[in-house]
Amino acid sequence: MLATVYGLLGGTFDPPHLGHLALAYAALKQLDLVEVQFVPAGEPWQKAGTNVTDARLRLAMTHLAAAEHARFVVNDLEIHRSGPSYTIDTIEESEEGAVVILGSDAAARLRTWHRADALLEAVEIAVVERPGTTIADVEAAIGKSVLPVVMPPIEVSSTAIRAHVAAGHAPRFLVPDAVTDFIVANGLYR
Ligand code: ATP
Repeated sequence: MLATVYGLLGGTFDPPHLGHLALAYAALKQLDLVEVQFVPAGEPWQKAGTNVTDARLRLAMTHLAAAEHARFVVNDLEIHRSGPSYTIDTIEESEEGAVVILGSDAAARLRTWHRADALLEAVEIAVVERPGTTIADVEAAIGKSVLPVVMPPIEVSSTAIRAHVAAGHAPRFLVPDAVTDFIVANGLYR
């Protein structure tokens, strides 16, 4: 029998937005995954030296975002692990059958990740193209073929949402309503 195949979508989720949800949904459907686990990074090593919102607040927002679909769940392993959040550690602590879901921007940098060889050996990588980086670019950069996921481009990023809120706007329709309410209620990004 085939092992259960599930998706792991890692990110800083500061905040989680509709681009993340559309990516998770496209991967869930197109790869016939049993579920997609959102994995907020506890200490995002790729964002070292930048101001990242407290992990408990990012975890709470990720729960609110994942509540948008019955097959979206939150995996909080990285929030509870001390030290930098490396995907290979999460894979080694998780059930077999993980597919790591990434935007092509992130996927093209995968060779710079901690223990990249072990990671590429252990899992399949699912990639959605984002402007500027094709699937072919990713495969050339990492030396392995990937599972393509397609979706219309949704050009929203957490960085742009934080700037929008800092400029005094509510991020409604860019993040799930419950996440907007959480951002406003907790005075985040002001
Ligand atoms: P930031 O702006 O803070 O860097 P981000 O919006 O890029 O954040 P992350 O949490 O760093 O979000 O991204 C997690 C994953 O989601 C990455 O693989 C990234 O490529 C993917 N992703 C982010 N935004 C989108 C989007 N709009 N469409 C598709 N994939 C996305």
